[in-house]
Amino acid sequence: MTRKKIVAGNWKMNLDYQQGISLFSEIVNMANDEVIGNQGVVVCAPFIHLHGIAQLAGSMSRVNVGGQNIYFQESGAYTGEISASQLKSTGATYVILGHSERRAYFHEDDDQLSKKADAALKHGLKPIFCIGETQEERESDRFFDVIGTQLEKGIFHLADSDFSDVVLAYEPVWAIGTGLTATPEQAQEVHAFIRNEVASHYNQDIADHTTILYGGSCNPKNAPELFAQPDIDGGLIGGASLKSRDFIDIAKVFNR
Ligand code: PEP
Repeated sequence: MTRKKIVAGNWKMNLDYQQGISLFSEIVNMANDEVIGNQGVVVCAPFIHLHGIAQLAGSMSRVNVGGQNIYFQESGAYTGEISASQLKSTGATYVILGHSERRAYFHEDDDQLSKKADAALKHGLKPIFCIGETQEERESDRFFDVIGTQLEKGIFHLADSDFSDVVLAYEPVWAIGTGLTATPEQAQEVHAFIRNEVASHYNQDIADHTTILYGGSCNPKNAPELFAQPDIDGGLIGGASLKSRDFIDIAKVFNR
């Protein structure tokens, strides 16, 4: 089964403008020289960086640019927010939606996220839609229910043609920024469950073509074993995406 492999970085709220340009230039140079497979490489940066790095990426680079959030309204009196069309106008082509930090600190719920997914797709942005359980939900064995509900309420309202532009990211909350990684077996178990849910809601062909990323303390050391799992199609990388060498080494796992 050939489906799109992707390694996406999430810079979160890090780097001033100059630092962002400098890190992105390193990433583009390394990616152009060293990433030789068909894998996609995406950098999801704070809003301030997007236009500058999209210009640097240009049309020749294999690195794509994404945002980390949008608001679902088209425009208007929403001080401090950014719409999907504004994000698209920077040159970004992806957007992370539903990251656990946004769900936890900014109270984003399934209803809002479903509207954000609609707005993103309407304006030609590919959502990287994050789902995952907290430590408490894992320990109480509720993780399949939690993830099933996040899918059902947040993204499964989409029509088949729109859903095919969605990338899913399984990010166990207990593994994000903690240095704790899901074992390849734990991650594979959930990825297989997610693919199965997609097959039940849509169909097997769509499920077979859905890219499902793993995120949570992924690094160049643990990425090869994680990405070797049959249902893991790449990673959403936080901390390690702030180091060009580490980020590109993770992307290069798919060179083999
Ligand atoms: C993330 O923020 O999406 C993430 C996976 O972070 P980290 O790699 O630092 O755990």
